[in-house]
Amino acid sequence: MATLVPVTLEPKQITEDLRGIYRGALHFDTLTRGLYSTDGSPFQITPLAVAVPEDADDVAALVRYCAEHNFPIIPRGGGTGVAGESLGPAVILDLSVKLRRIGVITADTVTTEPGVTCAALNAELAKHGRRFAPDPASANTCTVGGMVATNASGGNAFRYGYTRDHVIGLDVVLDNGTTATVSRDPKGSVPERLEQITQATEELLNANRAAIAQHRPRTPFNRCGYLLHDILTPEGPDLAKLLVGSEGTLAVTTAATLRTIPLPGGKCLTLLGFPTLDAAVRAGIDLRHFEPVACDLLDRRLLSITRRNTGEGIGPIPPVVGAALLVTFEGDTEREATERAFGAIETLRNRHLLRTLAEPTCTPEGIARVRGLRESAVGGMYGFTHGARPVAFVEDVGVPVESLPAYLAGVQDVLKRHELTASFLIHALTGQVHTRPLIDLENQTDRAKLWPAAEAIHALALSLWGTVSTQHGTGIARTPWVERQYGPVYPVFRELKRIFDPKNLLNPGKIVGPDPSREAWPLRERISVSASPNGAAPRSEQGAAPVGPTLNGDAPTPTLLVWRDSTPATEVAKCTGCGDCRTASPTRRMCPVFRVTGDEAASPRAKANLLRVLTDPTAATPEEVQDVAALCVNCKMCREECDARVNIPKLMLETKAAQHAEHGLSRADWVLARAEGFAALGSNFAPVINGLLARPGARWFMEKLLGISRHRRLPAFALRNFFRRARGAGLSRKGTRSQESGISKFPFSRDAERSVRVAYFVDVFAAYNDPLIAEATVRVLQHNGIEVYVPPRQIGCGMAALAVGDLETARENAVRNVRVFADLIREGYRVVCSEPTAALMLSQDYPDLLDDPDTASVAANTVELTTFLAELHSAGRLRTDFQPLDLTLGHHVPCHVKALRTPPAGPGLLSLIPGLRVRTIDVGCSGMAGTWGLKSANRATSLAAGKPVFAELNRPGLLFGSTECSACRLQLQDGTGKRTLHPVEYLAYAYGLLPEIGEKLRKPLDDMVSE
Ligand SMILES: Cc1cc2nc3c(=O)[nH]c(=O)nc-3n(C[C@H](O)[C@H](O)[C@H](O)COP(=O)(O)OP(=O)(O)OC[C@H]3O[C@@H](n4cnc5c(N)ncnc54)[C@H](O)[C@@H]3O)c2cc1C
Ligand code: SF4
Ligand code: SF4
Repeated sequence: MATLVPVTLEPKQITEDLRGIYRGALHFDTLTRGLYSTDGSPFQITPLAVAVPEDADDVAALVRYCAEHNFPIIPRGGGTGVAGESLGPAVILDLSVKLRRIGVITADTVTTEPGVTCAALNAELAKHGRRFAPDPASANTCTVGGMVATNASGGNAFRYGYTRDHVIGLDVVLDNGTTATVSRDPKGSVPERLEQITQATEELLNANRAAIAQHRPRTPFNRCGYLLHDILTPEGPDLAKLLVGSEGTLAVTTAATLRTIPLPGGKCLTLLGFPTLDAAVRAGIDLRHFEPVACDLLDRRLLSITRRNTGEGIGPIPPVVGAALLVTFEGDTEREATERAFGAIETLRNRHLLRTLAEPTCTPEGIARVRGLRESAVGGMYGFTHGARPVAFVEDVGVPVESLPAYLAGVQDVLKRHELTASFLIHALTGQVHTRPLIDLENQTDRAKLWPAAEAIHALALSLWGTVSTQHGTGIARTPWVERQYGPVYPVFRELKRIFDPKNLLNPGKIVGPDPSREAWPLRERISVSASPNGAAPRSEQGAAPVGPTLNGDAPTPTLLVWRDSTPATEVAKCTGCGDCRTASPTRRMCPVFRVTGDEAASPRAKANLLRVLTDPTAATPEEVQDVAALCVNCKMCREECDARVNIPKLMLETKAAQHAEHGLSRADWVLARAEGFAALGSNFAPVINGLLARPGARWFMEKLLGISRHRRLPAFALRNFFRRARGAGLSRKGTRSQESGISKFPFSRDAERSVRVAYFVDVFAAYNDPLIAEATVRVLQHNGIEVYVPPRQIGCGMAALAVGDLETARENAVRNVRVFADLIREGYRVVCSEPTAALMLSQDYPDLLDDPDTASVAANTVELTTFLAELHSAGRLRTDFQPLDLTLGHHVPCHVKALRTPPAGPGLLSLIPGLRVRTIDVGCSGMAGTWGLKSANRATSLAAGKPVFAELNRPGLLFGSTECSACRLQLQDGTGKRTLHPVEYLAYAYGLLPEIGEKLRKPLDDMVSE
């Protein structure tokens, strides 16, 4: 086989050559290449270049060009492979961005492009009552192209098999750029190159028939190497089947025609507890007679995480339970599925079963609850903040089911010998054992254990006639064992590769022919990077320069933010590269920008890789770094949803701050960072400024000069800002009784007032644009007998400045506000914010800016308004003397409410109002992200990101919107034209405190200024 000669690319020449031939993007810069240097595996290789083709023609053109110039190519989907299949020193073809069209859906087939995710495909098929059967755990993010290339399967493989069992035909690009369709029912003429390949393959397989049949693992659940045993048919070789699982080493898929199956009539899940792992394994073997669809075994370690996270309805898992089986049954009806489940339980009860931990359940909520348990267990393994984490390198072994007990005993011995512990997730029906030893990849001693442990575990599997790869892929991780697994068939693999790819340019080194000049396992580099290579250390008010802790004794590196129990380096190291943050699931929030663009650079994973690239500060220009960092809008949703809890938003704030410290702010960012100053000014000259903002000429000028979109509907400035009103009402004097302020018309309890005192943090929007929100806040609080004080010396929270990296301004604001509010807290006040972003800033971001007890005290005593009111309600102290409101609202839950980690309280409070019907909208980010969406450069992306929320609010019958966040309110009003208020405004109106809110509801959106 041809060996690869090291390749050097001439970007200029290549770009020139491809002009007019190839339309997609091509990246040669170090930064973009770095973003593609990892996947879900523990490996890292920087590619030569990254291409994002527009369509199949582009793929063909590029492959042809690369073939002519001997450039290796690696197709890539979601990059979720855990074996390093899509990594290498080659031109990466990212097919996940543009090739995302789903084509014809017939009664039992679908044709789709390769970049469509499994989940997106199934969402579409569900509309036709159908599904694509293989259900990998990564379904939300893995692509059809990746599934075909890795012959993906899921927990249901026992019943539905692998991807290769459902592929009818493939459109492919062959090694020399020839396009062809491979299927058992070919139509039209066959290109010459395909004819050659077909003939040579047939001869090869015929000549080696006996060896191929003899040297198969004895487990039917195997995906290692090329699967050749059933390729020859009377009509010739089934090339489509052969290409499935070939990991991009034989051809590039540009479309796949897949068989679909009906959605199940009924599905039932149950969770069964056993005293030991061994008992659970044996029960799993017995369960096969009851034809379950899937059966996942959770070991003691996974269960212990589950014990911590056990949700409602399942109850605590007793310590005597040493392992559990999560079993799924399907049937034509729910009854049939349930009967199967009960039948199985009845039989197991006498033999192995300790107890039923979750009774069979068919309801969507019940299924979600039981499944959530597995997810929280597996995900929880990655949530360790420091040190050893589960690493996938021997996680794909499968053995004949009868050998499972022997294999598990052997693996435990190996682990003991290497002083390792591990978690086991076992597909008990198919003999697949996902063993993930806990390894600290930053620790040299731990790293040295990987290869010998893999050697021993894989040797054990092969000695039991098992396979080193049942599900995930051969890739870099397992190619070194393919020859040992297949013996005399290995030369057949090599010959097959030569037939398809004589120049060895398609994903070279995978499955066959690992490059001997390269490390077999290019483990990810250890990170000893500062996120702020150019940064200066921040100083808290006390003057201490907070310096992050270091890894492995590396010298402390200065950071601009305060890193207490973590460092940028540990955060980067925590990212497994799993790609879960590329999800577009409607039940998740991360990542609003990635969802719209589909660009790897926008994914949270890429942000961790950005920091990897920046270990060499000269590797990227400030503009390149800024371009990637700007794709994070600080919604904080990935921090909440990523299993490994990687604090990507903080990494990006650190990066932006370092950029700003070194290179200053752009004009638009400079203006946005000073939004409060401009708002105060605007409010002083409200009539003039509001008039100006409505003029197209002024709008145009603002866009050109400041980059703020002229098409955005902007909030008008208030004629009298809230601080003035508060002064006038006596709210800026401590101890002012609500009646003295003249605001409350209702009697209040003096006892209650004495016990709860609120220092109101007024955000910029409520202060200068919409003081009615602030007024509603004060009145609702006072109506409930609470003393409200509006400290006059407070200033804006500084989030706008922090979000663009202007740490100086953000820190100045923090210092001032902490000084104001810490004293009040000492006097017994709680800080209440009607703006969730402000609550987040005070409670979570200030401690990242300042490292002192006062800041910690402010953080601990700050609460978002609706949460505070919900607390009052739970304590039986919220008045419910509401007048009925005959309204139907859609309430959007903002990201920053979720990031506060308290249950969203808005909808519950609104539903206390008689006659008011509220529909909770929790389908994603509104897309505005503070002031980010105001920029003309971001407007289109911002509105696209908000579409799912708009669609919900646009449902017929929903008259108005509601949300706590002012940026979301702007966006919802812009995106739907529906009046959207803060929930406290509805409460104030229903209490009869602010009749002007009724007028606001009746008015068109003319208090917003537009062109
Ligand atoms: C948390 C987690 C859970 C997982 N669970 C499962 C599971 O249950 N079952 C399972 O099977 N896998 C699982 N995987 C592994 C992985 O998700 C699958 O292998 C998946 O099929 C890879 O799809 P992808 O789009 O991410 O492909 P990538 O990782 O991008 O690529 C995988 C391989 O496919 C090739 N490839 C991609 N697109 C094409 C194309 N169009 N033409 C030719 N070759 C192509 C690449 O070159 C590479 O060799 C899991 C991974 C993670 C991180
Ligand atoms: S940021 Fe989290 S979800 Fe994204 S790849 Fe890293 S570990 Fe996975
Ligand atoms: S914080 Fe939000 S915008 Fe930033 S990377 Fe995470 S999910 Fe994306």
